Amino acid sequence: MRQLIIIGSGPAGYTAAIYAARANLKPLVVASSVEAGGELMNTTEVENFPGFPEGVQGPDLMTKMQEQAERFGAEVVYDDVTALDLAGSVKRVTLGSGRVEEADALIFATGSAYRKIGIAGEERLSGRGVSWCATCDGFFFRERTIAVVGGGDSAMEEATFLTRFASKIYVIHRRDELRASKIMQERAFANDKIEFVWNSAVTDILGEDAVTGVQLTSTVDGSTRELELQGLFVAIGNDPRTHLVHDQLELTAEGTIWVDGRSSRTSVPGVFAAGDVIDPTYRQAVTAAASGTVAALDAEHFLAALDEAGTPAPDADQIEGLPVL
Ligand SMILES: Cc1cc2nc3c(=O)[nH]c(=O)nc-3n(C[C@H](O)[C@H](O)[C@H](O)COP(=O)(O)OP(=O)(O)OC[C@H]3O[C@@H](n4cnc5c(N)ncnc54)[C@H](O)[C@@H]3O)c2cc1C
Repeated sequence: MRQLIIIGSGPAGYTAAIYAARANLKPLVVASSVEAGGELMNTTEVENFPGFPEGVQGPDLMTKMQEQAERFGAEVVYDDVTALDLAGSVKRVTLGSGRVEEADALIFATGSAYRKIGIAGEERLSGRGVSWCATCDGFFFRERTIAVVGGGDSAMEEATFLTRFASKIYVIHRRDELRASKIMQERAFANDKIEFVWNSAVTDILGEDAVTGVQLTSTVDGSTRELELQGLFVAIGNDPRTHLVHDQLELTAEGTIWVDGRSSRTSVPGVFAAGDVIDPTYRQAVTAAASGTVAALDAEHFLAALDEAGTPAPDADQIEGLPVL
């Protein structure tokens, strides 16, 4: 049996693996069969991860994180977790291959998925004008014409934030009114760089190597037209990847995994969670990495406190110095 299994190989999973491996816990990282490396594998330049003044390509950053974790003894397996049994003190993890792994502790770092529009060009032009993150990519659109798709608070927040960079921003919405809170709406309406395009759905993204425009289809009469622009920010929601633990771990109202205060402790002793799967707000590579560190330190403390029979000591989940919540 292993001491620690980490599920997920994004910045949270690999950072947890670096810390856990350096603590000699020999963690197994279940990296996923098709999405190893996490969301940054889908982007090009990352300019806001500290330590890379010239920027770094997303896939290069993730390869380096993996190498760093393996250098200290983390074992990476390219498979998916298909089932979890978290009930007992031994955590059971079933992989797509049918293999079952067991461990005393588990770190759940499966990230979250930005909702996609689901149209042609969206995947191909991801990182080439199509983005899901204004904080990450807004800087690339200085003095450009761009659009934000969505009608909720996050769409208004992204659009308002993007006015710092872009010269013109269309907000494209399927209906003729917004879901966003009154205050967010008013802020967006008051900004003269923002123009609303009502009753319209983006049905195609135009451009070979970079976005040059979008095709809009009217949700009222089905007519189509093209809008010239260089960037498209999709802000139609985000789904934390929690389906494996819905009935086993407590979730928050936002659908993220509940953790105890600033720690990574979930509602089940010995199970820790990190990264975007616990974060409804910040969702950045560096915050996910930091959260992976917290999870590894919490897991390390938990494991150190296990008694010889493998039963958690009464205070095994409590880190000294952190408030009891
Ligand atoms: C296109 C794009 C560009 C971005 N650009 C930036 C940027 O420039 N700067 C920045 O700071 N942030 C950026 N972000 C956000 C950043 O990528 C995320 O905040 C960060 O990757 C979250 O890390 P994570 O480890 O929590 O999750 P993820 O990176 O999502 O990793 C989760 C991992 O878990 C795996 N997984 C899920 N389910 C299973 C399972 N059942 N079995 C095994 N593995 C599983 C996934 O395959 C994946 O490997 C960008 C996001 C996107 C989509």
